[in-house]
Amino acid sequence: MTKICRFNHDRIGLVEGDEIVDVTAALDVLPSARWPLPTSDLLIANLDAVLAAAGKLRATAPRLPLASVTLLSPVANPPKVIAAPVNYLKHQDEANADGGVNFAKDVKTIKEYGLFLKANSSVVGTGEGVEIAYPERRTDHEVELVVVIGKGGRNIAREDTLGHVAGYCLGLDMTLRGTEDRSLRKSLDTFSVVGPWLVTPDEIADPNALAMTLDVDGAPRQRANTRDLIFDVQQLIEYASAYYTLAPGDIIFTGTPEGVGPVEAGEVMACSIEGIGAVEVAVRQAARQY
Ligand code: MN
Repeated sequence: MTKICRFNHDRIGLVEGDEIVDVTAALDVLPSARWPLPTSDLLIANLDAVLAAAGKLRATAPRLPLASVTLLSPVANPPKVIAAPVNYLKHQDEANADGGVNFAKDVKTIKEYGLFLKANSSVVGTGEGVEIAYPERRTDHEVELVVVIGKGGRNIAREDTLGHVAGYCLGLDMTLRGTEDRSLRKSLDTFSVVGPWLVTPDEIADPNALAMTLDVDGAPRQRANTRDLIFDVQQLIEYASAYYTLAPGDIIFTGTPEGVGPVEAGEVMACSIEGIGAVEVAVRQAARQY
């Protein structure tokens, strides 16, 4: 029963109510790494050992208010950020009503599109916020359940998939609207928000039955449930592993439901996923890149 977070300057904490138990010393169990570094996240690959060490530290570890820290992505070094396009039928409907996606006016679903990859440099935590780089264009929010792979593999059978999951997070797959490929428009710095913490699978009875919400400055935008996924969590892992060798720390954005819409600098996205938690993510103006 664990919510583990990364906060401030790469400290590690257990989230208990509105407090964080600082168990950073548990990182001492991690093996030292040298070149070539493994294409995996060292913490996620050794999560069981870290959590065991954290459990021993917990009683005497310092506690601090959750509200006082900056939450970073619980996965520091995701080897891959895999994402599902159009994985809810009602989002397909709204994308078609809105004139299409990418190069296509006739928007199809994940069954036709498969998966895409986002740059791992786009990953931030909920405390870091989202930067708008092109204010003259529309940037949309997409709240999504995120799956973090704990045990790698290739060609994982459906019945084995959930055994490869390290945990679940809330995700924001931020999207610059336009004609460019998804891998460009969705990979700007800060466009993959992951957090606010990692929830271990024992806390999530069924990842395909989680309510989620997103409001912008108090106005409801997204109200949905993962029961409406076209490819459910097991199928996403099975499908992804048929194409990519999965590694510890790989992140899968499972797709956004209906209700996507624009955000601008100065606004706040309030997001929640059942069993994971609720968090606010700020939107701010970025320095222009060119
Ligand atoms: Mn998405």
